[in-house]
Amino acid sequence: WQMLCPSPAVVLGFPVEAPAPETAALLAKRQQNFAASQKHYYGHPPQFERGWKEHMFSVEGRAYLDMVNNVTILGHGHPRLSAAIGRQWSMLNTNSRFHYAAVAEFSERLASLAPDGLDTVFLVNSGSEAVDLALRLAWAHTGHRNILSLLEAYHGWTVASDAVSTSIADNPNALETRPGWVRPVLSPNTYRGRFRGEDTTADYVAAVAQKLAEIEAVGEGLAGFIAESVYGNAGGIVLPKGYLSEVYARVRDRGGLCIADEVQIGYGRLGHHFWGFEHQGVIPDIITVAKGMGNGHPLGAVITRRDIADSLEREGYFFSSSGGSPVSSAVGMTVLDVMADEQLQENARTVGDHLKYRLEGLIDQFPIVGAVHGMGLYLGLEFVRNRQTLEPATQETTAICNRLLDLGVIMQPTGDHLNVLKIKPPLCLSIESADFFVDMLEKVLLEGW
Ligand code: PMP
Repeated sequence: WQMLCPSPAVVLGFPVEAPAPETAALLAKRQQNFAASQKHYYGHPPQFERGWKEHMFSVEGRAYLDMVNNVTILGHGHPRLSAAIGRQWSMLNTNSRFHYAAVAEFSERLASLAPDGLDTVFLVNSGSEAVDLALRLAWAHTGHRNILSLLEAYHGWTVASDAVSTSIADNPNALETRPGWVRPVLSPNTYRGRFRGEDTTADYVAAVAQKLAEIEAVGEGLAGFIAESVYGNAGGIVLPKGYLSEVYARVRDRGGLCIADEVQIGYGRLGHHFWGFEHQGVIPDIITVAKGMGNGHPLGAVITRRDIADSLEREGYFFSSSGGSPVSSAVGMTVLDVMADEQLQENARTVGDHLKYRLEGLIDQFPIVGAVHGMGLYLGLEFVRNRQTLEPATQETTAICNRLLDLGVIMQPTGDHLNVLKIKPPLCLSIESADFFVDMLEKVLLEGW
């Protein structure tokens, strides 16, 4: 299938004509009938009807480079995945109640990828569901409610995962509606947080210790702590060195469980490790994973220890009708097979390193480029109006995204100030496509937006 894909230069033949007015009107009308969050784009964002590797094609036939893909890590249109889905679907899917060979096989494979001792897998449909389940596990196992969560974090949109999502951009009502069991701690954002720079670990750990002391002072227990190790919603900030091991030690000291949210950063995206927590040298008690593991098919999981899983099973309230079906398990197996055969984690590392190097080159050239965060194919390019005050260039970031869309690149602002380009392409991104993206970005920064 590698051979079938035209080169980016062929795919991205510009300029492309705007759609005829009748077509534009029809597309705009259809757009009104579905609820989608495309608030960052002006006019009528394209509607896509097909995709191939890191490109998607609009209904008008125009090609776009997909640089903000949350889920499709293998790339679009992978024939091995369609074949696997078809095969399993025609054999057997689910009746929602029983045990299936495909599910057992995939659960075993997933557990084999987790650290020793984390050998029990719950399969669900999404990242939010996985986070809700992780919280239930922590509650059931410890008998306590309080969960520490980092300010600025995003962990999902179901009621409990939303509660621990303390990002203001994604949930403007977070501060008013947050339940009492959510205990937000200072965001260890080493770029624009309260303490800046690499050697701020002790300051941020002290903030967690203080929060733990507050909980203890009112005589309450601790259920757990949830965090990503590369901090997605903050723009891809890599947590300061040693932060997680210090925090995990303190949380465990108080009887809490440590939850690593790998929904966005896990599964090889960081290139250098399969799991994000490996970068911090820690072993969590509970892992949540989704997005890439199903390549866009609804599939998520919680991986944990048997004793923790037993606490919930005793209470008997885990049940998901379509979560963990044979078809989604076949998808999960195939994603892992393709990742291994096509060396996608290695690709994320080499292309990611190249991309980061080129993006860092923009810092000297353009004052608006404040920093490049992240690693592998999970990068954040932060735009600022002033490098001393770090005033976020929010409107500029949206305008830049819109210009990039004109040039055939799909991009999206992120972060509490919506001033970071979130760079998350499929893991099959080629060096040529990475260069095309930086060239287009450079063009926008040079010519204006
Ligand atoms: N956790 C993290 C870190 C995420 O980034 C997301 C989704 N952006 C979720 C959980 C929720 O996943 P889903 O959208 O699949 O429910």
